[in-house]
Amino acid sequence: MSTNIIGFPRIGENRELKRATEKYWKGEIDQDQLNDIADGLKDKNWQKQAESGLTWIATGDFSYFDNLLDLANLLNIIPKRYKDLKLNPLDTYFAQARGYQSEGKSVKALPLKKWFNTNYHYLVPEFDDDTEVRLAGDTLFQDLTKALKKHKNVKTSLIGPFTLLKLGHFSGEKQARNFAPAVVAAYKDIFKKLNEHQLAWLQIDEPAIVFDLSDDDRALFKEIYKDLLSEKHNFKVNLQTYFGDVRDIYDDLIELDFDGLGLDFLEGKESLDIVGKKGFPADKVLFAGVLNGKNIWRNNYTATINLLKKLPVTEDNLVISTSCSLLHVPYNVDNETELASDIKQHLSFAYQKLNELNDLNAIYFDGHKDKLDENQKVFDNIQHPADTAVQKRVQDLKDSDFVRSPERAKREVLQKKRFNLPELPTTTIGSFPQTKDVRENRSRFRKGEINREQYQEFIDEKIKRIIKWQEEAGFDVLVHGEYERNDMVEYFGENLAGFVFTKKAWVQSYGSRAVKPPIIWGDVSRKHPISVATSTYAQSLTDKPVKGMLTGPVTIFNWSFPREDISPKESVTQIALAIQDEVLDLEKHGIAIIQIDEAALREKLPLRKTDWYSQYLDWAVPAFKLVHSRVQPETQIHTHMCYSEFNDIIPAIDALDADVISFEASRSDLSIIDELKKNHFETEVGPGVYDIHSPRIPSTDEIHGIIQKILAKLPVDKVWVNPDCGLKTRGEAETFASLENLVSATKQTRAEL
Ligand code: GLN
Ligand code: ZN
Repeated sequence: MSTNIIGFPRIGENRELKRATEKYWKGEIDQDQLNDIADGLKDKNWQKQAESGLTWIATGDFSYFDNLLDLANLLNIIPKRYKDLKLNPLDTYFAQARGYQSEGKSVKALPLKKWFNTNYHYLVPEFDDDTEVRLAGDTLFQDLTKALKKHKNVKTSLIGPFTLLKLGHFSGEKQARNFAPAVVAAYKDIFKKLNEHQLAWLQIDEPAIVFDLSDDDRALFKEIYKDLLSEKHNFKVNLQTYFGDVRDIYDDLIELDFDGLGLDFLEGKESLDIVGKKGFPADKVLFAGVLNGKNIWRNNYTATINLLKKLPVTEDNLVISTSCSLLHVPYNVDNETELASDIKQHLSFAYQKLNELNDLNAIYFDGHKDKLDENQKVFDNIQHPADTAVQKRVQDLKDSDFVRSPERAKREVLQKKRFNLPELPTTTIGSFPQTKDVRENRSRFRKGEINREQYQEFIDEKIKRIIKWQEEAGFDVLVHGEYERNDMVEYFGENLAGFVFTKKAWVQSYGSRAVKPPIIWGDVSRKHPISVATSTYAQSLTDKPVKGMLTGPVTIFNWSFPREDISPKESVTQIALAIQDEVLDLEKHGIAIIQIDEAALREKLPLRKTDWYSQYLDWAVPAFKLVHSRVQPETQIHTHMCYSEFNDIIPAIDALDADVISFEASRSDLSIIDELKKNHFETEVGPGVYDIHSPRIPSTDEIHGIIQKILAKLPVDKVWVNPDCGLKTRGEAETFASLENLVSATKQTRAEL
């Protein structure tokens, strides 16, 4: 009779950790104060878990920025350039996470990438030939000691060696395989240290084995664990997986000496089949991932109990678990005091999920039928607001509704003529820094302290100022700055029918950044024009083109909590039609360039290649095409994508049929440029020339060098120059300085053409 969570959120119910780390970075609090706040948050999590009846308190899941970066630092995988800064360990850690610039020293941050198919981001561990992997830290053990002082049953977790090597970047000659022995030796030292504590379970996370695996991968995995598990340990070891199934390696997993296996029965489409066909070893414990760690809906107990009953294990060998870490959901539904109770009763965040585990445990092991009936009632009553007009519009779509004409090459000629832009046109991604005054005015407006006119007047002033600034700085295609938007998805959701919003349902995205995804609750449609007034106002202030700025349907969908009663395809098509209405409205009002951001398109790409098209791209690409298929040939459609490892899906990106795309590239060393060249990428493209996720200011020379690199691979008439993402989170001083350097680097390059 046991229940388990894979991990818990850590930003704090009121984003305390965000506030604290940001204060620390500004020098407003010191390291001890930061540690105290973190300890308070850990304590509270553990207490909450204990009170809920959870079998083991989860430790090892806390982080100041990212767990994989923690692991890299624990194992001394810290590139020399950060060590050379001669900072204390915490500041060395933050330098890797955020970059460092002070007193003439300037180092970029490590690359930031999306964690599997989530909107959480990890920092890529960097190994070079001089990296000496060894156990070099002790926060993991300190936390364990702290938890054990108050709680008896404690587990800890650690990302495993295989996933570390899979996600790592190897900058020298030595590759993953060469580092494996040293990595295993370091994990053995971790085992030795853990032996000194009264630890119940060590959870080793190996999500990387849900990818497609080669024979070499399997061999490496086996080699690692045969060796590691031979190290004596007085705790049990659970090999934990999530975000998919382990079809390529299950045979090996059951042979190896793990005490438990954690399998995901929700995203792991074949998990049930695999354990059904191949059986589950009687000497291992199955941590059955049956409670969704990613969605925010109440668990349907009947369905879950039925699933549990199908598992080929005895009660003694079964642990009811979440499907992945609860890091990906908000804290507490009870904080949503303004949400209607008929909606609220269907929601479950991290705290509620703890209770659900407890309920499931009581039903499954002790036959508590009352809890089952009570739960069933909630599901009997669920009513998502339906809109038959929207449903009909989706049904009536024809293939031709998804195709824009004429073909892109012809449009390109017309557009070059219409806009007459210089070579290497400069632009930005949309948002400008949301300075304190912007946040203050928004909050005053929301509280009713200023009225709509006053707020609008303020926004208009900001727009006027930033248009003027861009003109003076010499930008070619301008933006209005997105000051009116709190968040690129929330803003649109608020203006569309079918969405509901939360007040405090924050989910960590990276480091101190958290997002508050809206909930798709009913059928979606555009209630009224959304950005038309703002865009036309901005355009009225200048002769240069100002881009209309929209969020695309796939991103709105991926960054919301989706419905589960209709298919993703159905949902995303509804959103696409709503955004299409807005696109056509902007065009009608004279907006000649419209950017439809698909920041999150890459994010939900299935982890297995065989599923890419059938499970995702086959509806995601058409949804985007639907949005812009009806505009005039001379209207230029831009799109933007973030942190995109899209080397493998370049043809699909080209197939979106946008005219121009900008994307993140600077933190991944522009490696994508080669791929674009190889694939004869047709869309005009602005690979981000500097990293906006760090406060560091790139010099003109540096940007000039980057543009050179791009032009070495791509034809000049296809290239745009822009930063790699929106500037909303940055300060103004660093932004203006960086952008001025961007323009001068471009001008210098033009002069050399
Ligand atoms: N247009 C948005 C902005 O500039 C894009 C943000 C994003 O890509 N995440 O903020
Ligand atoms: Zn972006």
